[in-house]
Amino acid sequence: MVMEGSIKKEGAAAPFYLPQSDECEIFAAAHSNGLPLLLKGPTGCGKTRFVAHMAAQLNRPLYTVACHDDLSAADLIGRYLLKGGETVWADGPLTRAVRAGALCYLDEVVEARKDVTVVLHPLTDDRRILPIDRTGEELVAAPEFMLIASYNPGYQNILKTLKPSTRQRFLSIEFDFPAPEQETAIVATESGLSADRVAPLVRLAGKLRGLRGQDLEEGVSTRLLVYCATLIHQGMPVERAILAAMIEPLTDDEDVKRGLLDLVTAVFG
Ligand code: ADP
Repeated sequence: MVMEGSIKKEGAAAPFYLPQSDECEIFAAAHSNGLPLLLKGPTGCGKTRFVAHMAAQLNRPLYTVACHDDLSAADLIGRYLLKGGETVWADGPLTRAVRAGALCYLDEVVEARKDVTVVLHPLTDDRRILPIDRTGEELVAAPEFMLIASYNPGYQNILKTLKPSTRQRFLSIEFDFPAPEQETAIVATESGLSADRVAPLVRLAGKLRGLRGQDLEEGVSTRLLVYCATLIHQGMPVERAILAAMIEPLTDDEDVKRGLLDLVTAVFG
């Protein structure tokens, strides 16, 4: 099972994050009041970067778990492992975060198995406890512990929706792709390409996003824009970089691809 567990060193410089609105204030207020936070929004729009930035700002370690459809409560809480003929208990990332007063970020939480929500409920109300059935422990979360979860409403199907009884335990912030000037600044900073060369890429992204729900399931993400600008900054011809970073990742349909390339010509031609 692949699980991403990253710990940010305390005192490390905060990764660059350009706020879209007052999300940093809301995050800080949620943290100081022991409240959980849900980040809603499309993939690649800055949610993970935001959490990493806030963890560094608040000087707390961060445990990030990329949820998938096989992820179970035991993956988060921990399990007994065999070590040299002995069984020893190993805390999972959630338990470690609860003990240490760290931040725990569950990325794409709706993907996880149903037993995960059972674990989250007592942690996300005023009890803030994590019962560990296997060891008989009942941990009270350290004051600085905070649970953050994200999900992408666009991906949802009826089976993979967050139940009201779960979502109403979280403060929520809606994310979307940044406004054009902000996105230009972000992509220029991240890629090193000058803002005047990034601006037309952002314009193209805006047009591609306009096709969301029609020809395309998802619009181009800020992440893909950063990839595209990075390739151009390294000397790749603009059209080639756009094809690899902004067209091919969006569709496999040749007709749709041709339509998207027409948009490229309209912006750059
Ligand atoms: P998500 O978690 O929403 O899928 P990420 O946080 O991984 O998306 O964002 C993808 C990339 O986009 C980041 O690695 C970063 O380069 C860039 N990015 C997006 N929004 C911002 C922002 N507001 N400030 C700085 N970088 C951003």
